[in-house]
Amino acid sequence: MNPMEKLIYLDYAATTPVDPAVVKAMEPYFSKDFGNASSVHSFGQKAVKAVDKTRVTIAQFLNCQPTELVFTSGATEANNMAIKGVVFRWWAKNSNFKTLNPKQISNPNERNTKRLEHLNFEHLDIISDLGFRISSLPHIVTTAIEHPSVLASCRALQQMGLAEVTYIKPQSNGLVRVEDVIGAIKENTVLVSVMYANNEVGTIQPIREIGRALDDRLQTTVHSRRLSTVDCRPIFHTDATQAVQFLNCRVDKLRVDLLSMSAHKIYGPKGVGALYVKKGTPIGRFVDGGAQEFDLRAGTLNVPAIVGFGKAIQLLNGSIKQLNNETMIKVRDKLIQGILKTIPDTSLNGDPISRLPNNVNIRFNGVDAQTLVMALDQAGVAASAGSACASGAPEASHVITAMLGESAAKESVRFTIGRFTKSAEMNQTIKALRRIVSRMRLK
Ligand code: PMP
Repeated sequence: MNPMEKLIYLDYAATTPVDPAVVKAMEPYFSKDFGNASSVHSFGQKAVKAVDKTRVTIAQFLNCQPTELVFTSGATEANNMAIKGVVFRWWAKNSNFKTLNPKQISNPNERNTKRLEHLNFEHLDIISDLGFRISSLPHIVTTAIEHPSVLASCRALQQMGLAEVTYIKPQSNGLVRVEDVIGAIKENTVLVSVMYANNEVGTIQPIREIGRALDDRLQTTVHSRRLSTVDCRPIFHTDATQAVQFLNCRVDKLRVDLLSMSAHKIYGPKGVGALYVKKGTPIGRFVDGGAQEFDLRAGTLNVPAIVGFGKAIQLLNGSIKQLNNETMIKVRDKLIQGILKTIPDTSLNGDPISRLPNNVNIRFNGVDAQTLVMALDQAGVAASAGSACASGAPEASHVITAMLGESAAKESVRFTIGRFTKSAEMNQTIKALRRIVSRMRLK
């Protein structure tokens, strides 16, 4: 590549550059107003004020109360907290199982019932060594195409024997059926977790419809079995990380109890995010320590990052958002059509309509996606095969594997455009792709 040529960044779903206005907003909070938001003196109070301002900005964006937001280190932590927090809390409340006290160990037939208020792994070891049994584990319904932070949290709970999990398979277009999600719910289902928009294929899931179906189901169940509402509506979580930039995230409209978000996907800094926790949602503390974040997540708040997060949300709320969606769809479709029309044996992965404005995911039949991504990089185009968290690893995308099988996953590349993408860059990308793909196919 000619070093004078500009590099083309088409990996905005992996991360976005920090907007200059965000950098400016963050600056005073590094060395000037550097106080710890937990301190009572004036330095601390300045920090609290800045954090609270962001809380209000995000609360307005989600249409929730500022006190319903917990700042985290990003969406990975928010997802871990949502999933593990709900299950840990369930165990703390429901572990009314039989254990032995030290005196009774010599006589295992004598058992007493002990209620565990706090569950940790030490407790678990002791209990399982003594061979406790419970009638049913808490059950989670999620999908096979969630972000690894959701899938790995679910798997960890399964491996520890703390939960059972159903992974709903998507249709070949990447969409999850509402009836499949609702149909998987059992009496012991405590949590439903479905992402709002997929990070690899950009498919927008029917979150509102799932939320409504959960409410409808609740009405029927409460009515027919005379149960309290708390007993039978599973908690509903959505990972909205990729959706925040483009879609309406009002939590009342989505009817979600928990929602994860991250700043670095919306031109904010890395390492900060939030979990919306609807008031009254039974969720346990995820990080132990101080009493920060309403005693749900301990740790000194990252004030500059939180301020930057607030500024990034403010920018989305402004005129930029409207401009983005419309122009981005045009640029996105230019790239899709340019590839499909000029490069043989290519197809679009993911639903063409229920799709994020910035996502293009293409299968190049017979072409190894990782090799193609590396060749594109040499040609000055940054794209990705699979998600950023997984790229570099030899496995193919779990999302496309679940939709279309492993061969499709190994031949698919994601291009994601952003606020600073130029329409002319699509022509250069298509040109580079035509050259590289035909060369690779000749080999
Ligand atoms: N969920 C989705 C859908 C994502 O795209 C990402 C980022 N790849 C995450 C969660 C994790 O976010 P973070 O990088 O803030 O931990």
